Amino acid sequence: MVTNRILDYDELNECLDILDNIKEEEPIGTTRFGYPIRHFTFGKGENHVIMTAGTHATELISNHYLIHVMEELNKSADLLDQNKYTIHFIPILNPEGTIVTTSAIRAKLKRGCSLKEEQDFCKRWYTCCKLDDETGSVIKRKYEMFQKVDANCIEEKHKALREHIKHLTETYRLPQGSIIQWTANGNGINLNDNSPSNVYLDKKRRGIPRYLNDDPNGLNLSVPNPMGTICVQDEFCFEKENEALLELYQSVATNGNLIGSIIYHSCGGLVRYLEDLKELNNPWRTDITKAEYRYNTNVASAYSTAAAYRMIKTKAYNTVSSKLESTYPGTILVELGKIRGNPFGQFINDNGMFDEMLTMNDKALIRCIETMYQEFQKFESLKGKTLK
Ligand SMILES: [Zn+2]
Repeated sequence: MVTNRILDYDELNECLDILDNIKEEEPIGTTRFGYPIRHFTFGKGENHVIMTAGTHATELISNHYLIHVMEELNKSADLLDQNKYTIHFIPILNPEGTIVTTSAIRAKLKRGCSLKEEQDFCKRWYTCCKLDDETGSVIKRKYEMFQKVDANCIEEKHKALREHIKHLTETYRLPQGSIIQWTANGNGINLNDNSPSNVYLDKKRRGIPRYLNDDPNGLNLSVPNPMGTICVQDEFCFEKENEALLELYQSVATNGNLIGSIIYHSCGGLVRYLEDLKELNNPWRTDITKAEYRYNTNVASAYSTAAAYRMIKTKAYNTVSSKLESTYPGTILVELGKIRGNPFGQFINDNGMFDEMLTMNDKALIRCIETMYQEFQKFESLKGKTLK
């Protein structure tokens, strides 16, 4: 069961294996190194909602949160009307990244370590992140905490993935300890940045380095790295995880009412919603109507009010999430937790912070789905009117 204890890849899957009121569907796809992207559904209504977590593997709180939601629905099925809704869950969108990150965690925090040990570790990590951010430090204090941890922390059963991470580490001289921030998939690709509209694609093609925080001693985002680059080759292609995800959205939207979707990330306590950037051309769609923007804003606002999260418009169309937001009305991106320090910070439970994060988001999620339904109805009736 999900609590504020950190679970590794196997443990997250074990939580998923025992949900008997949630149906497991065929995986939406398989990653390069052969890991299934598991897909679950709750309910059998004609109104569909898609929820994903863990696009960025180091944002481990998002996997934990979404599995917690599944556990709640498994326990109390009447939280949502099963005849009205079908909820699709992709709780581990990036299995390879999750294996890498949680293997690095287990090098420091063994299964069965005490709660106090784990909480103290999370707080130490949080402090390092805060100092790193504030001082713009070149030698990352947080990487020092993982100085002796490398790809050898990944178990033998993940050998192909492990060897590839070693290969990337050597080829691109990745900083020691940076494995703990493995946000990318096994190819070192950032799944949200893996977009043909990414404005840095040209820089990458021409082999021009692009450093994180403009720090030449930091990670070079133009090549595979823990935070992830845009794509493997110079010519753009979607990673397998994204191909599978885009296919899922398309098939759900074609076969039923896709009334909205929630993409879970962390951190910041924010709800990101569809930009209306008049100064930029939206590469995904140029015909988004006022009614669609309103739909999206109202869905985002329902979540943000109930969770007490700030609403924010992102400033570019660089990402896969911007494609989903532009294509499917009612799609929002939620940044869980108001505290920094992926992958540990959000697990700190001082003053019940973690527990409160769960309750507030549970409330927000139900409110948000109800709003998606209302907005979808409004939108459809409007469409009917303009057709007539
Ligand atoms: Zn993220």
